[in-house]
Amino acid sequence: MDADSTFLGIDIGGTKVAMRAETAGVAQDGGGGGGGRKSWESTFRWPPPEGPAADLAVLAEHLDALVRRLDGPLAGVGIALPATLDPVGRVTAWPGRPSWTGLDLAAALREVLPGTEVRCADDGDLAAMAEAAALDCPDVVYLGVGTGIGGGIVLGGRPYPGPGRGSCEIGHLVVDRTGPLCDCGRRGCVQALASGPATLRRAAVEAAAEVDFATLRQAWSDRLDWAVRVVEESCAVLAAAAVSVGELTHPAYTVLGGGFADGLPGFVAEVDRQAQKLSRPGHSVAPVRAAALGGLSSLRGALLLARGEAA
Ligand SMILES: [Zn+2]
Repeated sequence: MDADSTFLGIDIGGTKVAMRAETAGVAQDGGGGGGGRKSWESTFRWPPPEGPAADLAVLAEHLDALVRRLDGPLAGVGIALPATLDPVGRVTAWPGRPSWTGLDLAAALREVLPGTEVRCADDGDLAAMAEAAALDCPDVVYLGVGTGIGGGIVLGGRPYPGPGRGSCEIGHLVVDRTGPLCDCGRRGCVQALASGPATLRRAAVEAAAEVDFATLRQAWSDRLDWAVRVVEESCAVLAAAAVSVGELTHPAYTVLGGGFADGLPGFVAEVDRQAQKLSRPGHSVAPVRAAALGGLSSLRGALLLARGEAA
């Protein structure tokens, strides 16, 4: 790989898209002899959904503007997607943008960037790979708490269950058979109980008023009873999921990321506290720690995918 080769990661979210291009050179004076790593970034918010053709046109426009700023051609593109993909990379389900069902995003972007290698993968899997790399740890379970709950598992340094075999849908683990309806159609999935919107819905009931994230954050920081009850319940659900996945996978760490978890001080520590309470004799529970890459786990994972280092 040439130190001047440029790779692009794209993190596609439900409300916004983040792009980062990087040269392959070392990030600092780390002795690789490749000189400094150069980078270019771009972020945009999706306009209201009008269908995949309109969405792709917006994406292509921002992509083109970023590519024009680069020093040379792109050597590879990696895309992190919250949608469920089939083995060849077509979208089979994305509740956030249902019209994308059937779309082959990698193929569409190859038309925008002829001759460039473009790969797509699940954003939770890629976030897990990026966190495992950042922690230099081969066995990591990742949970991202935001609008939904994404997740990924890395065992022995590789994503589980592996390319072509689907992704880990930790957000759809059922933790309460009679719980609230999930957008997947089932009841009681982790996502239906502990995502950002699910937590805010319970907060509105407890506070008997509409509660936005800033209000919840302030009330949680002030340790108001209703906010503590609501947030601790979400932490308990996440702890149950983390411990249950840990029973099967034995990670060194459970890493908790995502904007919602990141935005509430003490949230990750509370999940860890509740997870440790679920240990059983002779079986320790892996520590729950905050994402090392903050909100950038999926984007860093997309860059690993672009460089062919995420499979
Ligand atoms: Zn579900």
